[in-house]
Amino acid sequence: MKRWYRILSAALRAPRLFYLGVALGILAWTTFGAVARAQTASDISLAAVHVTQAVYGEPLILGKDTVVRAVVGYTGADATEVRVTVEFDGKTFAETALAQGKETAIDVFVGAPQNFQTQTINVRVDALNATADVDLANNAQTLTLPMVKPNETIRGYFLPVDWTAEQRARYNFDTKFPEFVQENLNFLRGVYPLSKEQITLDYTLAPHMLAPNEKRLVDNQGETDGQAMHLLYATIALAARRLKSDASLIVGVLPPGWYAAHGKRGALGMALRDVKGVVTGQYAPTDPTTSAHELAHIYWLYEDYDYAISPGRPFTWIDRSGYYVQERAPQEISDTKKIPTFLSSGDPDQSFWVDTRAYEYLMARFTINGNGQVSEPLILAATMANQIEPDGKNYPSDYAAGFQRFDPDQTVYVSVGAAGMRGGETLQARWYFDNQELFTDKQTLNAGSAWYAFALRDKSGLADGAYRVEIYLDGKLVKTSKFEVKSSQ
Ligand SMILES: [Zn+2]
Repeated sequence: MKRWYRILSAALRAPRLFYLGVALGILAWTTFGAVARAQTASDISLAAVHVTQAVYGEPLILGKDTVVRAVVGYTGADATEVRVTVEFDGKTFAETALAQGKETAIDVFVGAPQNFQTQTINVRVDALNATADVDLANNAQTLTLPMVKPNETIRGYFLPVDWTAEQRARYNFDTKFPEFVQENLNFLRGVYPLSKEQITLDYTLAPHMLAPNEKRLVDNQGETDGQAMHLLYATIALAARRLKSDASLIVGVLPPGWYAAHGKRGALGMALRDVKGVVTGQYAPTDPTTSAHELAHIYWLYEDYDYAISPGRPFTWIDRSGYYVQERAPQEISDTKKIPTFLSSGDPDQSFWVDTRAYEYLMARFTINGNGQVSEPLILAATMANQIEPDGKNYPSDYAAGFQRFDPDQTVYVSVGAAGMRGGETLQARWYFDNQELFTDKQTLNAGSAWYAFALRDKSGLADGAYRVEIYLDGKLVKTSKFEVKSSQ
């Protein structure tokens, strides 16, 4: 379920102006300081390269839009024109831009890779003014990135539910609803590890109206009415499948305020655990993330908010920078810039992105459970869970994946998604509490793709604090997953 998080947004806005002021100050200082050494020989260099589809440092997904970010350094005064050239997936791309100072990010959009193989990516930067570059040895980098071909299809259908003629007029529905669907599609294609062809959305403008017994979500005591809830999901599923029989995901879009009017204050969207493929979300034209959030529950991910402790935690912050390629929007994090995951609470003042936990888990699930492929042996994910599937399946159970905080008496699981193994490799899990190693466990891998699980438990209860588990493949560290032990209130 997606919930609202209410904050005093004015308190958050003030610091942004302050940082802008600091940034301008630094810029002015750099320009001024550079004048003194204007006559010395200057150099262009390629400081770093990031090849990104959603999250930095992940394998490439076949058919998913990609950006190559070249970080260019320039020692000269002022700015100089450079050309960044990228060889990617058998094609060459170039971008011309101004470089100034130690780090100028130049983004080259290279489309979606179509050749399924471990990719070699060549990136170089050249000065357009020959006098701007004394050292040509530091202008190029080559990256090698494995590829993943997940096998999962999301055919979403957006069905407006219970909209009155008056509400449709008030929200300019016929114009705004198609835009809302398109923004949801962009966001899904941005944050899910699938090709753009694997995610499509369709919709109707004709609302499906509910009968009175289909919208009684709570009884007279304010308790959830499970039977009415199932009637609601059944009628949405039937109505949508009549219009789009091959839909794998049906999103019932309710008018603003609908949940509160029907006893579910604070809800933004809902997925019933025993009704797969149907979710509901309230229409929020500025928030295109509800379908991604509810859909993640269909793939068994848990929430990234936690109100079972005090104070409650509305957000999980992304752990690594990323890129919203479809919107050409970098998702850079720093000490002063935090971005919540889309599995956090909703908040009209935030934009959301995806972290390594959710992205890697979904990639592993779509590849291992769906018989996808990898271009070389890969550990795709080490997903924390409070329960795993029995009979050697070993992947996180429903609503158990991506768990972050465990009670002291809970068993802590890590499900490791191993794809395309040759067989005979050693997978090792090293558990740490507060940087102190607790114990080590190992398993030998079979050929092919499968999930492997390791567990941590203590009969007398795990101590409160910060933990991590490191996963090694044949002695090489390949994943680190963090978690916390702390009692619920
Ligand atoms: Zn949720």
